[in-house]
Amino acid sequence: MPDVHQLKRRACEAVDRHAAELTAAADWIHAHPEIGHQEVEASSRLSGMLSQAGIPVEMGTAGMATAFKAELNGSHGGRPRVAILAEYDALPGLGHGCGHNLIGTSAIGAGLALREVLPELDGSVWLLGTPAEESAAPNAGGKVHMVKGGVFDEVDAAIMFHPATETTITGDRSLAARGFEFYFRGKAAHAAGMPEEGINALDAVVQMYNAVSMLRQQVRSDVRIHGIILSGGAAANIIPDYAAIRYRTRADDADYLAEVVQRVVVCAEGAAKATGCQLEWKEYMPSYENTLPNGVVMELMLNNLRSLGLDVATERKRKGRGSTDFGNVSRRVPGVEARIAITEDWDVPGHSIEFREAARSDRGRQAMLYAAKGLAMTAIDLLADPETLRRAKALLEQDLGGI
Ligand SMILES: [Zn+2]
Ligand SMILES: [Zn+2]
Repeated sequence: MPDVHQLKRRACEAVDRHAAELTAAADWIHAHPEIGHQEVEASSRLSGMLSQAGIPVEMGTAGMATAFKAELNGSHGGRPRVAILAEYDALPGLGHGCGHNLIGTSAIGAGLALREVLPELDGSVWLLGTPAEESAAPNAGGKVHMVKGGVFDEVDAAIMFHPATETTITGDRSLAARGFEFYFRGKAAHAAGMPEEGINALDAVVQMYNAVSMLRQQVRSDVRIHGIILSGGAAANIIPDYAAIRYRTRADDADYLAEVVQRVVVCAEGAAKATGCQLEWKEYMPSYENTLPNGVVMELMLNNLRSLGLDVATERKRKGRGSTDFGNVSRRVPGVEARIAITEDWDVPGHSIEFREAARSDRGRQAMLYAAKGLAMTAIDLLADPETLRRAKALLEQDLGGI
């Protein structure tokens, strides 16, 4: 077995050597936010850092223009293969309010570090640039598209980092999430002269919104239903003949979520019937499954982050949960998303201006460098000992069977 401690130390030194380049890239991406599937500059900057280091990069993975895949080979290449995932999309209007500029650069940092030690290990590492994690972009869920495209069929474990307000490795699962749009069509008429001739599509949206707001009280407390009105009419003096609303629906598990979705659809149907509108609806993005953090990989990551001197908790103070397309990955291959604090204040909400500012702070940059080291060290652990990977896979099978 290779000298794992020595390989990890060398990988960490390599991250330190690349620190200036990595933080410059993180700051640049932060200053040039691009929403999902439009991350042209970010994906080219990140993949460019790999190409410059002599690592071959394929763009357009799984049919997505801003996705990429870079392969780093160990002594024999091929399997086992660990994937390190990069995200780099921003939020509309808010910029990098989720700190994905730090995720992308942490993965590249890990890759640059691993390049130096991989020749002493078997197997390989894929750095995957996964676009559009935020559900704000049409056809979001780059990792879901990669899962469907078979990318993870050739992977044995997947790891990534997400900035947070607390440094934690926990078994908490993200929420399963789906997204729907409802389109109501009515009939335009002069709102003062002949309102009785009109069929008011905005009224249908308002009816639906109110019905869903009432539904919220009659579902399990883990459920989240939240939406925005996409269209509410063209002018106040025209009865709106078209209105539309988008909802995200979430719950602990996919089965209960499917029940909730049915009830949301009934709210839309009821609103259409009450107002006389025609209704069409569609699921506008792929489902995000709830995550299944793998206990074996979690432990490796926990020990590695602690060995770097980080104070890592195994429980979170802030209990709110979001959703991620990493959920779909975590049900195909063993994996973990490490969370490292980018602010002193654990109460700062995600998707906020404060969180965005933390993503370009010194603390944020340091967290990204710690993450690069933790990812590289965990990849070394997974490649160095086939028995660990076997245990991680067995645990995934067991966890999946238990649901
Ligand atoms: Zn987010
Ligand atoms: Zn995020």
